[in-house]
This record gives sequence, structure tokens and C-alpha cells, in this order.
Amino acid sequence: MSSSTNAAPAVRVAQVSKTFRTGKGAQVHALEDIDLEIAPGEFVSLIGPSGCGKSTLMRLIADLDSATSGTLEVFGKTARRARLDQDYGIAFQQAGLLPWRTVRANVELPLDLHGTERATRRARVDELLSLVGLSDFADKYPDQLSGGMQQRVAIARAFAEKPKLLLMDEPFGALDEMTRETMQTELERICAETGAAVVFVTHSIPEAVFLSDRVVVMSARPGRITTVLPMDLQGERTEDLREEATFFERVSAVREALHGAPHTGARGVENR
Ligand code: ADP
Ligand code: MG
Repeated sequence: MSSSTNAAPAVRVAQVSKTFRTGKGAQVHALEDIDLEIAPGEFVSLIGPSGCGKSTLMRLIADLDSATSGTLEVFGKTARRARLDQDYGIAFQQAGLLPWRTVRANVELPLDLHGTERATRRARVDELLSLVGLSDFADKYPDQLSGGMQQRVAIARAFAEKPKLLLMDEPFGALDEMTRETMQTELERICAETGAAVVFVTHSIPEAVFLSDRVVVMSARPGRITTVLPMDLQGERTEDLREEATFFERVSAVREALHGAPHTGARGVENR
């Protein structure tokens, strides 16, 4: 799972705090003392109540905003350097496709912007569309696709430059449960194929458990990490996993951590 080409963690967040000044001296302590290291190839989910700072943390990692204090690194570089070097792909809750561009042209966009030559671009987009099961829709426009399909286009686009890191903020939030589970399985498969590390924000406990190597549980006001639960679900994430006793155990452990219940289940997971 871990990449041998880069010894630095995919993401390193050390003692990061973020305070928003909201005018007239008012402040929001969105994040306080966040420490988190994500290994190359590791899948980590952030889960916590609304407003606990999940999106803020994602935005800091992506260098879309800056921390009040602390350090953030992506593959050993500053967040800013990593952004300029396009070291990661981003997929957020809204697919964010350009409606006037076809599916192919949307996925091609990052490659286009970086001057990848035409034949290479074409081959890469074919590969990506096949990966997300949309080969037959290359020439359609976003509004001709279902929400789930649009989201898959956005994910294909995020993967266009083979990023070793993906930042995904509630990417499946708008999908129905069936599509959502299909997308989870696809994401898991794509990550296994590409070896990408993922930081994934979700409100769904089963989704976090199904996808993650570790689940990071956060609390609000100020946003803090309260528990980090390794999932230790060996082997492939197949649909069968969703029916297994260990899966339900992990779901309970995350739920208890999230609700601040005694962490007996959670500790059981950690000691395994
Ligand atoms: P989450 O994604 O976990 O729901 P956010 O990271 O969006 O939470 O927000 C965390 C806290 O920071 C919330 O209280 C939110 O209102 C506040 N916040 C986020 N962005 C800003 C901003 N640009 N200005 C002021 N407050 C903000
Ligand atoms: Mg959010």
C-alpha cells in the first residue's frame, strides 16, 4: 500500500489551529491543535458534527486558506508548493463540472491546462472514463447525466494527473444510497489501482468504515481530533464486507466515538 518512491508522509498536519475573525472582534475557533499524519497510499476519513472544521482542514491542506498557527506539509513540501506542483486532485461535494464542455472535455481540462499533448490526453481520458464506467458517455454534456454520473466525471477529473493524493470533501453527499455504495466500491478500486492516498470527509459512518484505513473523529467548538480509529479490515473491500460482523463492530466503534460514549469498542479495535 505505501509508496516506496516517497518517504515523506502524503499529508502532515502539526499543531494546526485556525481562527476565523468574523468582524467586530468576534472569532470562530474552527480548528485547535490538529495533529495528523497520513501515509502514502493510506485512506483516512474525517467524520464529525457539522461545523467541526472538516472542510476548513481540507481547505488548509489544499492551500485554499492558511492556518493561524502550526504547519502543514504535502509529501514533505509546503501546502503552497504542493498546490503549485499540482500534487493532489480535489473532488468536493458539488461535481463542479463545466456545463458547456462534454464529459471528455471536462476530464481533459487539467491535462489541457498543463499542455499535455493531444494524443496522450485522449488516451488518458479514455482510460479514466473506463475506470469510472463512463466510456459510453464521453460525448455527452453534464446535464445529460444523472447526479451519480456527474460525480464520477468529477472523480475521473480528479484522477486525471494520477495524483498520489486525493482530497475529497463529501463527494457522495448528494447521491442516493445505492449509487453511493457503487461509488464507494469504485473509489476503493481506483485507489487500489493507483495507490493514491485519500483524505475523505463524510457524514456517513458506514461509508467511512467501508473505505478507510483509519477514521478520524472530530468534535466541534473548537474543532479537535478526539479519536483516531484504525479499521484493520484486511483484504479487499467487497460488497460482502458490508454484511460482516467485523464491519458492524467498526461501525459501532465509530458511532460510539462520535457520540462520546465509552470507547470500549474503539479500544478493542486499536488493540487488535
Ligand atoms: P464542517 O466542514 O466540519 O461542517 P467547516 O470547516 O465548514 O465545518 O466550518 C468550521 C467552523 O468555521 C464553522 O463554525 C464555520 O461557521 C466556521 N467558518 C468556516 N469558514 C469560515 C469563514 N470563511 N469565515 C468565518 N467562519 C468560517
Ligand atoms: Mg464541510
